[in-house]
Amino acid sequence: MSTGSLNRVEIDLAALRHNLGVIRSRLAPTVRLMAVVKADAYGHGLVPVVRALAARGVDTFAVAEVEEGVRLREAGVTGEIVVLVGAVPEFFPDLVAHGLTPVLYEPGGLDRLSALAVAAGVTVKVHLKVDVGMGRFGIMPQEAAAFAAAVAGRPGLALAGVLSHLPMADGAGPETERQLAGFEAMLAGLGDPRSDAGHLRHIANSAALFRTPAAHFDMVRPGITLYGCAPVAGEAARLGLRPVMRFVSRVMELKEVPAGYGISYSHTFVTRRPSRLAVLPVGYDHGYLRRLSNRGAVLIRGQRAPLCGNVCMSACVVDVTDLAGVAVGDEVVLLGSQGGAGIDADEVAGWLDTISYEVLCLFGNCNQRVYVGESQT
Ligand SMILES: *Cc1c(COP(=O)(O)O)cnc(C)c1O
Repeated sequence: MSTGSLNRVEIDLAALRHNLGVIRSRLAPTVRLMAVVKADAYGHGLVPVVRALAARGVDTFAVAEVEEGVRLREAGVTGEIVVLVGAVPEFFPDLVAHGLTPVLYEPGGLDRLSALAVAAGVTVKVHLKVDVGMGRFGIMPQEAAAFAAAVAGRPGLALAGVLSHLPMADGAGPETERQLAGFEAMLAGLGDPRSDAGHLRHIANSAALFRTPAAHFDMVRPGITLYGCAPVAGEAARLGLRPVMRFVSRVMELKEVPAGYGISYSHTFVTRRPSRLAVLPVGYDHGYLRRLSNRGAVLIRGQRAPLCGNVCMSACVVDVTDLAGVAVGDEVVLLGSQGGAGIDADEVAGWLDTISYEVLCLFGNCNQRVYVGESQT
């Protein structure tokens, strides 16, 4: 990076390490951990996050696409890299060349993958995805045994894992129990996983990891909790998690305007009193979506300032009439804490009618990131 940007996302690697510790404290010593780092590590930066986790002994990572796995290999990452979604025949050559582990749910390409593995003189470990109620990627349970046999019967391929995914592990309903029963029944049909190759069985995302120990099986796949958010809004602190991401801007201009003054495009906000406004150089280009107009708030000097008027592409306006001591150049916190006050991803998600996951991807992947809390060891 040659020049800094006006807005930046700060990634606290010490908080990431802390959250890893919280997650590990929930696991029996025999349960393995696959860190989910798709979507550029939920907006936190793929390579720095993986390096920080690898330095703490994490040796299995999940990405969405082959391209992300290749990036990790090129950065020198040696652990197991599981491609959750994008292991299609088009990318099999890259997958084999970089020693990535595909999740498969489509039998069409098995011969091709087998041939590439044999030609390269390697064994490609395959994880088979089964749909026990997610209604998304995954073969249906009654097809699992045939698919597993098809993998086992091909040279150069080994069945290393069988997985599924839980759609409602953050809820209290009976669905998760039913899906876990379906997962176990399907596994039983595959035979004892501890015989021959011994595939890993895994189904737990963060929600199931924290709520349902019976879902841990051989390995768990936390994503959002590594980054300090809970699957259910408002529960992060109770789980002992610390937010990893902060999103900060700055006060570019301060101005006094009279009562009855319209603010920003379309004048969706008109001052009701003589007002002091702070103009910020952040807008929807930075993932600070227009939907936040007249809904969101920011922190300046540890105090809350509400957004007024429409968020623009590269600017928005907050009302600082009631705030003490605001000056041009002050740090503005859009996400994170400042002087004892805080705006967490769940709160921003509420303003946006979405979930924390989307807020992290938006802010993290639209802005320059800086890393703090690097380990000295
Ligand atoms: C994204 C993802 C996860 C992680 O889910 P979190 O709720 O973020 O913990 C786990 N498994 C699969 C298959 C995923 O796609």
